[in-house]
Amino acid sequence: MQKNTDNIIEVKNLVKKFGSFVANDNLTFNVKRGEIFGFLGANGAGKTTAIKILSGLSFPTSGEVNVAGFDVYREREKVKKNIGYMSQKFSLYEDLTVRENIRFYGGIYGLSSKFIKEKTESLLDRLKMNDIQDSLIKSLPLGWKQKIAFSVAIFHDPKIVFLDEPTGGVDPITRRDFWEMIYETSDSGITVFVTTHYMDEAEYCDRVSIMDQGRIEGLDTPGALKKQFDANNMDEVFIKIAR
Ligand code: ATP
Repeated sequence: MQKNTDNIIEVKNLVKKFGSFVANDNLTFNVKRGEIFGFLGANGAGKTTAIKILSGLSFPTSGEVNVAGFDVYREREKVKKNIGYMSQKFSLYEDLTVRENIRFYGGIYGLSSKFIKEKTESLLDRLKMNDIQDSLIKSLPLGWKQKIAFSVAIFHDPKIVFLDEPTGGVDPITRRDFWEMIYETSDSGITVFVTTHYMDEAEYCDRVSIMDQGRIEGLDTPGALKKQFDANNMDEVFIKIAR
């Protein structure tokens, strides 16, 4: 049954083991409705492992995990219906056009043809991609592909969107542009759960969690974390935790 709470994600004592290796070591945290929540950590810290559990793609070894009011053990299908997910290797079809990709993802979510058609038009307008709607994805710059991948991840108006390193490999202006889309998404009421290795992006989040070797070692607003770790910027906070 769906719970009524201000937390859109509730995680208590989450453990995920692969054999004897502990990838998520007793994680406890909440994410508030509408928040932009940064989920940081060095390579291999356990971020993707946790995101897969939060998205209903993999089961925890133990612990309580509630996403959008649904239990990830018993209500996985409901979790999946209420979330969007954009992975590092985002899943656009390179040999389909922009429009065909949008149509395809709308179809996956079981949306009506009328809704998909109307939403596709407004999306192409918003992305200013009307002129390239019939171009193949593979012909586009990486930054444009990232924007399209983000747009299809929220096409079905989920309650939460998980972005796993959405801006890898593009220049700072393109990244900044992408963050404008994140702000718009959050303003529209969708909670944004984002991982990044760029510390300037950590500063844009409402709250940030920093993981090291499977554990959360810091969780607060960027301002409070800088105070707590006696650091001038998030780079310094990160280095102090991950060293
Ligand atoms: P990155 O920033 O590189 O994406 P990450 O923080 O997302 O790193 P994870 O991908 O969650 O890290 O991996 C955490 C650890 O768990 C790594 O040591 C990884 O090798 C291990 N791991 C992940 N998936 C599996 C699996 N299916 N079987 C065994 N070990 C795994």
